[in-house]
Amino acid sequence: ATPMSVMVGVGKAAEAGVLIRNGEALQTSSKLTTIVLDKTGTLTQGQPRITGIYPVDDLAKSEVLRLAASLEAGSEHPLADAVVASAKDAGLSLSNVSDFHAVLGQGVSGVVEGHRLLLGNKRLMAENQVETETLQREADDLAAQAQTPVFFAIDGNLVAVFAIADPLKSDTLAALERLRRDGLKIVMLTGDNTATAAAIAEKLSISEFYAEVQPSDKSQYVQQLQAQGERVGMVGDGINDAPALAQADVGFAIGTGTDIAMESADVTLMRGSLHGLADAIEVSRATLGNIK
Ligand code: ADP
Ligand code: MG
Repeated sequence: ATPMSVMVGVGKAAEAGVLIRNGEALQTSSKLTTIVLDKTGTLTQGQPRITGIYPVDDLAKSEVLRLAASLEAGSEHPLADAVVASAKDAGLSLSNVSDFHAVLGQGVSGVVEGHRLLLGNKRLMAENQVETETLQREADDLAAQAQTPVFFAIDGNLVAVFAIADPLKSDTLAALERLRRDGLKIVMLTGDNTATAAAIAEKLSISEFYAEVQPSDKSQYVQQLQAQGERVGMVGDGINDAPALAQADVGFAIGTGTDIAMESADVTLMRGSLHGLADAIEVSRATLGNIK
């Protein structure tokens, strides 16, 4: 392609809300064979909401929510926002948290009103010797419905599981179908639990996915695919996607996501829609004259 036609291609993509950093990113986009997609905020809306609270015994749900939200006020995770928003909607006032820790890819811990609170996935509970058995059936049912179960323990005892739902973006399925028609292999990566990920993957007809991926390992999956000879486009929105976006042959950031993702990416999808990704690839192929 001539420098002039590359410039025209970059301009055309920009009109569709796809900001391509340079000509090289456009050229490489035309050669991609695999697209790796983060789940939360990329395939889904990224604004999770609590859809249910399942306490053990007959603990008051509002009390469970008030304590959990007091703890999550210290976290910036989208799941934390869901818990805090729900407490605010219910008009609950929160207490201060001390000795707060965020455990990457697992959840949070802290002291509220003199009690040690723990909120997060099964792994976090297991590592802190909290039994999840009494609520495991609820958790499994929720995961099968594509919701994320979040366990809550007070002083080492399981007290509730929260159901958190993050709906798919309305055009995700159509955009993925377009990418498949373009001959691309689709892979999903997520830190979420395997059963929830499987339910989402099924809705989207994604046959290859990796769940319970630690944030630090996302880029290794990209590297692994590259070692198998794939040319990988990675799409993500979060801080934890930044290394994988940088590792990919082309990194695509969701424009409604974090600044760090956009800084690490070669392309920004301003509209937040995965149709922008298909637009970028189709424009790049047309520009480079290798339409499949
Ligand atoms: P993702 O954003 O892909 O879900 P993360 O690595 O951020 O991946 O989180 C993995 C899992 O860890 C979440 O699905 C959740 O179960 C748990 N988790 C992480 N942070 C929190 C938090 N602040 N509150 C509750 N659960 C959390
Ligand atoms: Mg994400």
